[in-house]
Amino acid sequence: MTPKTAKKKAAPKAAPGTARSHKRVYYFGDGKADGRAEMKALLGGKGANLAEMVSLGIPVPAGFTISTEACTEFNAAGGKLSSAVKADVLRSLARIEKSMKRGFGDSSHPLLLSVRSGARASMPGMMDTVLNLGLNDKSVEGLASQADPRFAYDSYRRFISMYGDVVLGVHMESFKNRLEALKDERAIDLDTELTAEDWKELVREYLEVVREHTGKPFPQDPHDQLWGAIAAVFRSWENDRAKTYRKLNNIPSWWGTAVNVQAMVFGNKGDDCATGVAFTRNPATGERVFYGEYLKNAQGEDVVAGIRTPQPINKANRGSDQAHLPTLEEEMPAAFRDLVRIYKKLEQHYRDMQDIEFTIEHGKLWMLQTRTGKRTVRAAVKIAVDMAKERLITKEEAIERIDPKALDQLLHPTFDPKAKRDVLARGLSASPGAATGNVVLHADEAEARAKAGEKVILVRAETSPEDIHGMNAAQGILTGRGGLTSHAAVVARGMGKCCVAGCGALRIDPEKGEIQFEGQVVKVGEPISLDGTTGEVMRGRVPTVTPELGGEFAELMKWADVVRKLRVRTNADTPHDAEIARQFGAEGIGLCRTEHMFFEPNRILAVREMILASDTAERQKALDKLLPMQRSDFVGIFQAMDGLPVTIRLLDPPLHEFLPQEDEGIREVAKALGTDMAHVRAKIDSLREFNPMLGHRGCRLGITFPEIYRMQVRAISEAARQVAEKGVKVHPEIMIPLVAHVEELKRLRAAAEEEIEKVFSKHKGTKVRPTIGTMIELPRAALCADHIAAYADFFSFGTNDLTQMTYGLSRDDAGRFLDVYIETGILDHDPFVSIDEEGIGALIQMGVERGRKTRPHLKVGICGEHGGDPKSVKFCARIGLDYVSCSPYRVPVARLAAAQAAVEAKAASRRARAPRS
Ligand code: PEP
Ligand code: MG
Repeated sequence: MTPKTAKKKAAPKAAPGTARSHKRVYYFGDGKADGRAEMKALLGGKGANLAEMVSLGIPVPAGFTISTEACTEFNAAGGKLSSAVKADVLRSLARIEKSMKRGFGDSSHPLLLSVRSGARASMPGMMDTVLNLGLNDKSVEGLASQADPRFAYDSYRRFISMYGDVVLGVHMESFKNRLEALKDERAIDLDTELTAEDWKELVREYLEVVREHTGKPFPQDPHDQLWGAIAAVFRSWENDRAKTYRKLNNIPSWWGTAVNVQAMVFGNKGDDCATGVAFTRNPATGERVFYGEYLKNAQGEDVVAGIRTPQPINKANRGSDQAHLPTLEEEMPAAFRDLVRIYKKLEQHYRDMQDIEFTIEHGKLWMLQTRTGKRTVRAAVKIAVDMAKERLITKEEAIERIDPKALDQLLHPTFDPKAKRDVLARGLSASPGAATGNVVLHADEAEARAKAGEKVILVRAETSPEDIHGMNAAQGILTGRGGLTSHAAVVARGMGKCCVAGCGALRIDPEKGEIQFEGQVVKVGEPISLDGTTGEVMRGRVPTVTPELGGEFAELMKWADVVRKLRVRTNADTPHDAEIARQFGAEGIGLCRTEHMFFEPNRILAVREMILASDTAERQKALDKLLPMQRSDFVGIFQAMDGLPVTIRLLDPPLHEFLPQEDEGIREVAKALGTDMAHVRAKIDSLREFNPMLGHRGCRLGITFPEIYRMQVRAISEAARQVAEKGVKVHPEIMIPLVAHVEELKRLRAAAEEEIEKVFSKHKGTKVRPTIGTMIELPRAALCADHIAAYADFFSFGTNDLTQMTYGLSRDDAGRFLDVYIETGILDHDPFVSIDEEGIGALIQMGVERGRKTRPHLKVGICGEHGGDPKSVKFCARIGLDYVSCSPYRVPVARLAAAQAAVEAKAASRRARAPRS
């Protein structure tokens, strides 16, 4: 590198895929615009849409947009506007003057300007704005002579304070203090009570404030004012507020903001003036009703500032408490008619609900902004479905418009948005929903109180499989430790129960019978509320509202099912969960974790006897007790899933998880086994492992205690035969967990086939023999998938363990430091939430390819938590998986994500086929 080039500043980046051009200033006005709606990257959202509205023939005050590229150049050049940009600005300014028939700085007919920021993505209130620019000591007199003098001096004092604050760095407080002092002097409360003379006096004081703080007079040359304001708006892209907002919303700093300079129109020049905001449809419900508010004789800021109560725009959305308020429809019928014509045109043009801003100046309507309106999920679904029916968009577009993750809000009860919240602390939003109940600290207590009809929230440092019954009985679960794949989170999602996990502020004090959140105490038995969508823990009972799932939601899901190729199954362990999942559209069970059944109170003793047995005969005796119980579990599940496949996974967790820790449990097992407590304790100790997740679990149990798996296979086969004889269409699939080596699967498959044969040998004709497959959840299994596939009828990727084992990240503890990894940008997401496509994803893809090399029609799915994450679902669709399996409440989320994946794939292949121009 030569010293010369080394000194040069790096050229600002152009938006990827866009060519850099030399044009920096884009004019709009009089039906002509240099820009278009598609140019958001260059002109920002506001600028692009102003240009588009002008081209559509909609009345917009003339103006121009200085591009985002100019912002990047300005900041790179140390805050200097190039002379080329300045020349273009002056040329465009002359066009505005001509269009508005006013002169910039003219003392009799002054043109006033607004100077506003406008980035590619909306960043509400983060950057700066200057209004009424162009006023000075002379032009204010001109304005006062043509209009109401009160209006003229009020506008000038607003301008001095705004410009002083934004451009000259004079604190707004200094101006406000003067205003308050004057009001005190006059003994009045409202600004509106001040007279023209009062404002005039305040103008003099404000000018003095500027001189005091800056040591210079307030700039009187409108051009100096303009350059100052443009520079301030560009600089505001780099202010702390904007930077934080960008960080939170993943907005890159190289985007820059555009500046929109536009002729001012006034809604505060008298009673034939007004200003307002509106949505083309109801943003809360999605109803096709024009919805908005306005204020007569006011400026835009006043509507949102809440100083005066705005009036409804039309009779159709006038609430019962607003019956006394006149509407725009009644007060200014001609302007209202224009507004209706324009909103309809905008919605047709943009093919989406719009959020619009307008001003009426002496009866003439001006549009100041249009953009895609923010809405609730419920409204989003209704609007998308309605618009598809109106043929404004296609069904595929309707599918694409809904964020699958947001559907969660529709499926679970939610807190009444109008209710008050007393937030005690925040944890991870582990399982969505809204739960309210009295605090309990133990699972047994939760169950007992729930049986007595009390609504409870189970609060634990963390949960274990022993807490299942309490979790089931509770309305919601709160834990102090654990991440999104912690036991509490996984089980709660499976149950469709609200769960806030990993709430760091939570301290549990069982001695005192209370929980604490940084000094705030809640006693056992007192109510709290959990918001599983925001992770908030609140004091008291916050009222909830129940969702309705028919109507547009059902319709949208029907369309999604027609489009998608990827099947969606559910992870369910009970007939109840299976039924819920079916209602949500599950097409089978992809993972039934049999260990959850082992924790039922009426069978845990037999399970413990089985584990602690001293020989095979003793173990078999315990297994014989378990067999009929397991069989009845499977009968219930097969019946609930009549006609659909059910994948049942054989026992997976390390055995010591089932063993008692307390004396009472130990005494009970010792008695059942005819031995003493010391013997049981010694056995429990002997089963302890340093790394249980890498230890004696999964198929390793089946290898070392073959009788356990044989009992389970027999229970599955007998249950299948039994329900089939009653006419239930059953498709059982037996799944072997944690296989690493083909020999494990080969041997376990042979043993399973023997058991199946015993059950079906006398029933040759029956077609319900289970198939046998394996989980792929160890890296070695994915690498050796070609060998393993020789003995597997199907693969199911266990991405929880596969992520844990491949990344070397503990699924239970990684939450402690993953946050730092994400905050510092080492990782852009938690790999336990969304599949790490370049690492774990590559391994999955390799496993699929290798498996299908041996068995071309190998059925492949995933059943880790990722099966309900939209981004991961799309990845699974792209790499050709047959199905994903997720917790019941995520089934609709996965169905929609799978449909979006199909729509995206179709669009990609259309693009690939399109001739290159
Ligand atoms: C997995 O590991 O992804 C899986 C589904 O099994 P579990 O979560 O029960 O270990
Ligand atoms: Mg696993």
